[in-house]
Amino acid sequence: MKLDTIRSDFPILKRKVNDHSLIWLDNAATTQKPHCVIESLSRYYKENNSNVHRGAHTLAKEATEEYEAARKKIQKFIGASSPEEVVFVRGTTEAINLVANTYGNLTIGRGDEILLTQMEHHSNIVPWQMLCKYKGARIIPIPINKKGDIILEEYEKLFTPRTRMVSITQVSNVLGTINPVKQMINIAHSHGVSVLVDGAQGAPHLGVNVQDLDADFYTLSGHKAYGPTGIGILYGKKALLENMIPWQGGGGMIKDVDFDRTVYLELPYKFEAGTGNIADAVGLGAAIDYLEGIGMYNIEHHEQELTRYATEALSSINGLHIIGNAPHKTSVMSFIIEGIDPSKMAGLLDQEGIAVRAGHHCAQPVLKYFGVDSTLRASIGIYNTHKDIDALVQGLLKHINQ
Ligand code: PMP
Repeated sequence: MKLDTIRSDFPILKRKVNDHSLIWLDNAATTQKPHCVIESLSRYYKENNSNVHRGAHTLAKEATEEYEAARKKIQKFIGASSPEEVVFVRGTTEAINLVANTYGNLTIGRGDEILLTQMEHHSNIVPWQMLCKYKGARIIPIPINKKGDIILEEYEKLFTPRTRMVSITQVSNVLGTINPVKQMINIAHSHGVSVLVDGAQGAPHLGVNVQDLDADFYTLSGHKAYGPTGIGILYGKKALLENMIPWQGGGGMIKDVDFDRTVYLELPYKFEAGTGNIADAVGLGAAIDYLEGIGMYNIEHHEQELTRYATEALSSINGLHIIGNAPHKTSVMSFIIEGIDPSKMAGLLDQEGIAVRAGHHCAQPVLKYFGVDSTLRASIGIYNTHKDIDALVQGLLKHINQ
């Protein structure tokens, strides 16, 4: 991987923040955008902008082709067997809400159980909780250990005849743990239970193949994968999506409407009511081309090496404790420093152009498990370097010693 070339693809990395060069270590919150993504948005609006699927004119045809080409790129990127299995949504949050409100609504009833890991993001807890409240079902947490690994033997024991759904993150946005999702899916399937994999932190960092994983549903957020905000995807196995009743109704998802009945369109359009986020889908397609140009294998290798380097460097700081020490982890370092308020430290680092996040990272249950209510989090992307980590460590040391 030519890091200098990659860095020069990201215009924002040239800007100064508080008179310092920007060091972006908040990639788990969102990633920066390369030229090609920014240009694709501008080109789409300058040359092709139209609504899709409807008009009979040239621009409608072009916009439709661009939108569907982006869908095919995503299909290939995640290894889905057909573009029909790729539904455009706003992001992971909307994807999980869609599944809870359609598949969940169809299959989960009073007394049923949904298994979620203890390290889930709120967007993979709250939609299920809302469904449980409505249906009289309940959530059962899958326990983790103090390293931040799922306890697989405990997971296996949680299955009962009432288990209807498992929903798990591929990579934790707090701990960085890479979960053994393939194995977990296999176990769930042996009990006849479907699995949703939250890939918000997985897809940007690991090569993903949903067919190899045998995931029933898989989600990703474009903005965490160097694409625009407001666009993401829900992957679902065709047989499951076909049996699900649409969640939102409106234009763009129907074949025929009368006042007493509606015939829906085929997949994936029956889940895409209203005008979609066409330009940002095109932008996500450009981001995927960009990632594939670098190669997910190279990205994975670079980020895991940098994660090891950062873990070692941070661990050498007196009074600093890393939360999440799973042997198989990537890209995220959460930590606390004795006697120091995380948000105060994030503010001090910002004065030096270093962007890290402080807070609960929308995953309060896992922070409670580790006995804290806030951490500092440095998270790595494709453009980060050893120098970025050195600057972070220097910045921390300077303020700890003040
Ligand atoms: N799941 C995980 C693991 C995440 O890290 C995030 C974003 N922080 C989400 C879900 C939600 O993604 P979005 O806000 O893009 O819908």
